[in-house]
Amino acid sequence: EGLPQTISADLGVPTVHRTVTDYANFDHGATTPALLQVADAVTKVQRRYGSVHRGAGYASRVTTGWFEAARAEVADFVGARADDQVVFTRNTTDALRLLAHCVPQDAQVFAWESAHHAAVLPWPGSRTTRLPVPTSTPHAAQLLREALQHSPSTTNLVVITGACNVTGEIWPVAELVAVAQEFGARTVLDAAQYAPHVALDIAALGVDWVAFSGHKLYAPYGAGVLAGRTDWLDAADPYLPAGGATARVHRDHTQWHRGPARHEGGTPNAVGAVAIAAACATLRSNRTTIAAHEAQLYARLHAGLAAIPGVRILAALGDRPNVGVVTFTVDGYEPSLVSQVLADEHAIAVRDGRFCAHLLCDAIAGDDATAIRASLGLATTGEHVDRLVSAVRRLVEHGPALSYVHTGDGWSA
Ligand code: PMP
Repeated sequence: EGLPQTISADLGVPTVHRTVTDYANFDHGATTPALLQVADAVTKVQRRYGSVHRGAGYASRVTTGWFEAARAEVADFVGARADDQVVFTRNTTDALRLLAHCVPQDAQVFAWESAHHAAVLPWPGSRTTRLPVPTSTPHAAQLLREALQHSPSTTNLVVITGACNVTGEIWPVAELVAVAQEFGARTVLDAAQYAPHVALDIAALGVDWVAFSGHKLYAPYGAGVLAGRTDWLDAADPYLPAGGATARVHRDHTQWHRGPARHEGGTPNAVGAVAIAAACATLRSNRTTIAAHEAQLYARLHAGLAAIPGVRILAALGDRPNVGVVTFTVDGYEPSLVSQVLADEHAIAVRDGRFCAHLLCDAIAGDDATAIRASLGLATTGEHVDRLVSAVRRLVEHGPALSYVHTGDGWSA
């Protein structure tokens, strides 16, 4: 309330909050502020909603229309094929878990250890091959090819990260899909970090499924998406066996719906679906502006931090474009202290830790090491970038301005 206008308003893609002057949000990789268009769409739904697919009343029919229109918008956003499905889930974690639930019994799953835990952990352990953290694009492709050559199954699924949540590196999706397709393997793209920054086209990429979260796409919490091929989804038991998923329940058997309803048991999150759709529409029509804004800020941030002695920037593949994330360490300072100093002394929000990707951090930061992540987005300004760079420089040159003691749950000044 009453906060100054944001830079994102100048871009024509305004978000509901984040100030230019007093608070620098470098935590877009975790969660993004809502777009104004999203907030407006949510308000519209909140004022009129009725039950979805469950009522004959006016509000119910209108809400059902909104919900299905949201599905169609998301299908366009991901570049879905005509016979693909869009299933609304809670978030990326839930979307990947839903796909894991639908993977055929005899399938083998391939996932790099560098992925977010949500993409590494949901698959059945005995039928999952973990690929080690690759060190370059050709190495990633080579690891996949060798693993697929030795697959014990003819039904295979490869889990590909669109953009890394730790390093921001955009993965070589097209190259990896090509390798998967050589072996007739299916692919799923974890687009949690990719979709907010890069245009998606799963049909053109040849990706079979894509998963992402609303709350990283400038929409609120509680809604996500799994979109893609129908066959595995329709062949599986319902993810949430409940009302909405049932066509008819008999004493001795149940007929389940096919299509998205099969896995959307229970009353759906229509507000979340409409919010995601509003975000998809806004991002889709502003991709070029957003990409230019982010590329320019990323270059400034990366160059600024890289020039500070004792700052080490982390990368895995090393030769990739980036969605606007710089994760780094500062010699002589624990990452948790660096982020505390940035918050207390400079009103800068970053994240420190291992970012739900422990195996990747072990590989690129060192065993058990943590790091500091600065992830930019629509609410980031050039002033924010300069403030972060000079704050880190100041810390390196002069130490913290306040004196900090380590307490049980962090640092206090
Ligand atoms: N995959 C990636 C690459 C992510 O960055 C995240 C969120 N940090 C997830 C999956 C999980 O998303 P959510 O917490 O919204 O389920």
